Amino acid sequence: AKAAGRGTVEVFDEVLRRHLAERQELEAALDHALAAGELVLHYQPVLAAVSGSLSGYEALVRWQRPGHGLVGPDAFVPFAEQSGAITRIGAWVLREACHQLVEWTRAQPTTYGALRVAVNVSGRHLQDAVLLDDVRTALESSGLEPDRLVVEVTETVLVDVHEVGERLAAVRALGVRLSIDDFGTGYTSFGQLATLPADELKIDRSLVTAATPGRTDLLRLMVHAAHAFGLVVVAEGIEDADQLDLVRGVGCDLVQGYLLGRPAPADPLPWAPPRVVAG
Ligand code: C2E
Ligand code: CA
Ligand code: CA
Ligand code: CA
Repeated sequence: AKAAGRGTVEVFDEVLRRHLAERQELEAALDHALAAGELVLHYQPVLAAVSGSLSGYEALVRWQRPGHGLVGPDAFVPFAEQSGAITRIGAWVLREACHQLVEWTRAQPTTYGALRVAVNVSGRHLQDAVLLDDVRTALESSGLEPDRLVVEVTETVLVDVHEVGERLAAVRALGVRLSIDDFGTGYTSFGQLATLPADELKIDRSLVTAATPGRTDLLRLMVHAAHAFGLVVVAEGIEDADQLDLVRGVGCDLVQGYLLGRPAPADPLPWAPPRVVAG
């Protein structure tokens, strides 16, 4: 039994070692990825729920990792958060998205001139004072009007609102819009909604998926509360026409999801999505 126990420990050791080695390799590769230009942004359209007109895009990062194909953020953002690389990646995403929207606007002012771009900012980046400089630099170097940039932070980073509240307020004071992402998955109370320095609430896909025509009370209540606090409400993860009807029915202002458009590379220009037929 003793021998078997030791063997188990050795196997466990080996697994840990390999795991650690893989992680170190990934972290080193990530550091290199930014400098090597391997990160790209894809853009997913955000539409007005009722009129179907284009409101803007959410920028979503991908890693063109040599030998691995196109790697999604879920596979590397958590590592970048651990290593701290997410702060530099975040600064790049902010700059890239702002410059891209300015470029589109120059090419087709009537189509793009009023659109916004939303960027995901990690909780780790939010804890770093450099975020303010990064947002300012992205705006100044691109010339993008501040209110055309939306900064998305997940609801989970707000657990300690007091700690991040001041930074959020400072970011917002630059004139950019602030959006609370993945709302409904964390612990923000309706009461806290009143004190959040936010402009927009993004209802998490899981709530959209869980809602049925007979069970919309929770969504209705959320939208109602958000509106009462002056927040614009976005429903994300809309995959079919029934879900679209449902979120329209409860009063969501903006919609986003595969039904309306999948994330796509900036080049060629993302198609202006067709107007959604009302009803
Ligand atoms: P998120 O911010 O909640 O972004 C929405 C995710 O849902 C995206 O996945 C998007 O492609 C996907 N999605 C959009 N519509 C639908 C739909 O109708 N159905 C389903 N099933 N999924 C849909 P993606 O691009 O893989 O991003 C995953 C997460 O990675 C994001 O979740 C965000 O938290 C994070 N992320 C993405 N880009 C960045 C970034 O530049 N910086 C940071 N810090 N995090 C990022
Ligand atoms: Ca987001
Ligand atoms: Ca989300
Ligand atoms: Ca998410």
